[in-house]
Amino acid sequence: MATTTAGMAAATEPHRSSAATKATKKQHIADEPLTRHNWYKHVNWLNITLIVGVPIYGMFAAYWTPLQWKTAVWALAYYFMTGLGITGGYHRLWAHSAYSARLPLKIFLAAVGAGAVQGSIRWWSRDHRAHHRYTDTDKDPYSVRKGLLYSHFGWMLLKQNPKRIGRTDISDLNDDPVVVWQHRNYIKCVIFMGMIFPMLVTGLGWGDWWGGFIYAGILRIFVVQQATFCVNSLAHWLGDQPFDDRNSPRDHVVTAFVTLGEGYHNFHHEFPSDYRNAISWHQYDPTKWSIWIWKQLGLAYDLKQFKSNEIEKGRLQQMQKKLDQKRQTLDWGVPLEQLPIIDWDEYVARAKDGQALIAVAGVVHDVTSFIKEHPGGKALISSGIGKDSTAIFNGGVYNHSNAAHNLLSTMRVGVLRGGSEVEIWKRAQRENKDISFVSDSSGKKIIRAGSQVTRIAEPVASADAA
Ligand SMILES: [Zn+2]
Ligand SMILES: [Zn+2]
Repeated sequence: MATTTAGMAAATEPHRSSAATKATKKQHIADEPLTRHNWYKHVNWLNITLIVGVPIYGMFAAYWTPLQWKTAVWALAYYFMTGLGITGGYHRLWAHSAYSARLPLKIFLAAVGAGAVQGSIRWWSRDHRAHHRYTDTDKDPYSVRKGLLYSHFGWMLLKQNPKRIGRTDISDLNDDPVVVWQHRNYIKCVIFMGMIFPMLVTGLGWGDWWGGFIYAGILRIFVVQQATFCVNSLAHWLGDQPFDDRNSPRDHVVTAFVTLGEGYHNFHHEFPSDYRNAISWHQYDPTKWSIWIWKQLGLAYDLKQFKSNEIEKGRLQQMQKKLDQKRQTLDWGVPLEQLPIIDWDEYVARAKDGQALIAVAGVVHDVTSFIKEHPGGKALISSGIGKDSTAIFNGGVYNHSNAAHNLLSTMRVGVLRGGSEVEIWKRAQRENKDISFVSDSSGKKIIRAGSQVTRIAEPVASADAA
């Protein structure tokens, strides 16, 4: 069996390499700019016919073809089956090895997957692995960076230079007899599973041959193709990015509904070998549910799942990144290390000269614009000018709120020289000593509630402690 498989796999390889040799001799059409004179050479006419031409014909034909309810139910059921062939078979089983399947399930998925008319498992998985490995780059066969429509089906309607698609390892697929057999007999599989089989069901079942051809065949293929294309387009364009926002994949319930559960695509690109796309029970992922049922039936095993500890770490890091971005849009006051150092005598002299300066915990603040707005009244704030108001601010007269400490930081203009906490901290920073504060991703100090430099743990008893 193994020899036959290897032989089959090898038989498909020379074809690829000879095509590659030809391409090196002559420039590939995809590498030439699209012009008025050569556009027809860029178009993949076979794919245009299959993906656009045939469905248009089907829509016209449907106008003259009455839809029987039995045929409608069958077309819908076969839509789910062939869609599952792609999502549960091509995608999660073969492209990502997210679980293992027994032979009968493999044969079923290879058959209904062929009925979705999206290429062989081998071809589909190779491109999909390149899509994951080179997401959003030129080596991504359906990069959304080239436009939403390009990622949807433009990449198939226009010729692509196969050499540009990133290389991936598919040796495991070449060792899978079901994959190799389907690849070698692909045209027969597509014609039978895409058109003949759905027609046989309606024709032999209730005599509706033509309805089966139009509804369960042509139009059902169109819908299932468009649904899969949405994973490459919509899932890289619409929704949230709870795990990583450096690339385009996104999570959205609408995409999930359209694609049998493949809509939690940000999660999927972070944890591609997880058999689930949706991790919460209430999220729509019928592909996951099907795989789970197959497991209960003994048809699937070794379902891969990332530990929730790993998933939650990723989610938290992305949340922290968002918090940092938000934090950077706010005014936290001039960073202490950028403030000038002011002598006590100079501070007192400037205050006497009429500058409304107030020192709290070694930091000098200019409160000129705030005196009139001070909720405790003009007199109280003015009484602190030119003095060390650490104790007054921290409970001597009124124990100021967290918001007050935040606001005060935005008014700071200098740091007092000598013995103050702030200066010790500044010196430690200059000398690269261990400093007990936390920075965000941009290196800015995180100021948590209650940890402002002007806040001191125990209210000081005397105003002239400094
Ligand atoms: Zn993707
Ligand atoms: Zn994938």
